Amino acid sequence: MSAAPARYAVVGNPIGHSKSPLIHSLFARQTGAEISYGKELVSEPDFAAFVKTFFRNGGAGLNVTVPFKQHAHALCGRLSDNAARSGAVNTLYQIDGRLAGANTDGIGLVRDIRDNLACEIRGRRILLLGAGGAVRGVLPALEKQSPARMTVWNRTAERATELAREFEGSLAAASLEELRGKQFDLIVNGTSGSLEGCLPPVDAAWLAPGCCVYDMVYADEEIVFLRWAREAGAGLASDGLGMLVEQAAESFHIWRGVRPETGPVIQRLRNGVKTDLGGSQGDSATSLRPE
Ligand code: NAP
Repeated sequence: MSAAPARYAVVGNPIGHSKSPLIHSLFARQTGAEISYGKELVSEPDFAAFVKTFFRNGGAGLNVTVPFKQHAHALCGRLSDNAARSGAVNTLYQIDGRLAGANTDGIGLVRDIRDNLACEIRGRRILLLGAGGAVRGVLPALEKQSPARMTVWNRTAERATELAREFEGSLAAASLEELRGKQFDLIVNGTSGSLEGCLPPVDAAWLAPGCCVYDMVYADEEIVFLRWAREAGAGLASDGLGMLVEQAAESFHIWRGVRPETGPVIQRLRNGVKTDLGGSQGDSATSLRPE
């Protein structure tokens, strides 16, 4: 009798839109692994009990998405450096019966920007828009790339100030007033504004020559922030689909010790984003939802 496939899932609320099951099934096919990967909709009070039961019943690994990344961090007995520094966990697994957590979002962002898009991070001036879970999660990995400096702006200024305090020495908070006259080589939109077609209060004068502009949101229609970037003369403008696939690949590697090839999976999602993803789940808004 053959063993049951190793069991994985992504847990969040909402979760119907998630592309993780498709991505991980493509990784499994590519690496010859037999796995099952589900989507779990969990309410906030039930999250801790859900995680405990999942692993007690033989589950091999969980991805964690909005709004549970900080909850997941609080449950772990062991944390990767990035998870400990960011206070957020998107990958859960067990080591010697203890719950372990990692954060692969930052590695995903760095690999997409630096390797897939060939946009240098080291020594560059970075502006981050937003101070929510996504920006918090990617800061440790960006910090390790030794940018010249990192600046964060957020609609609610106190959250940016708090983040800058936690990442003192590598991150400064700035108001729009303080950003006037400044230039950046890489601008990352980590706000969820794009989900509602909302453009943050951006300024074309921020773009240094060849500036790389990145939105963590991914969509099969044009993202308003990326349209602005192109019209403002950005050297490159990209959505966050590559980040999504790269962070998933890092989770897969943690769980299974094998690093899948991401290029073909990104391409497959790019080609089939309407039919395979949002469209197949019967919700036209799904392609703009957070993972
Ligand atoms: P979050 O914790 O809810 O934070 C939302 C952030 O967006 C806050 O900084 C909030 O500012 C800001 N914001 C919301 N609406 C805004 C608007 N209309 N104008 C300006 N700022 C606005 O969400 P999150 O977890 O950080 O996720 C943020 C985005 O990252 C989501 O769109 C998600 O899809 C994306 N993401 C993508 C990946 C990927 O793999 N591609 C991974 C993680 C996240 P306030 O503090 O003022 O409310």
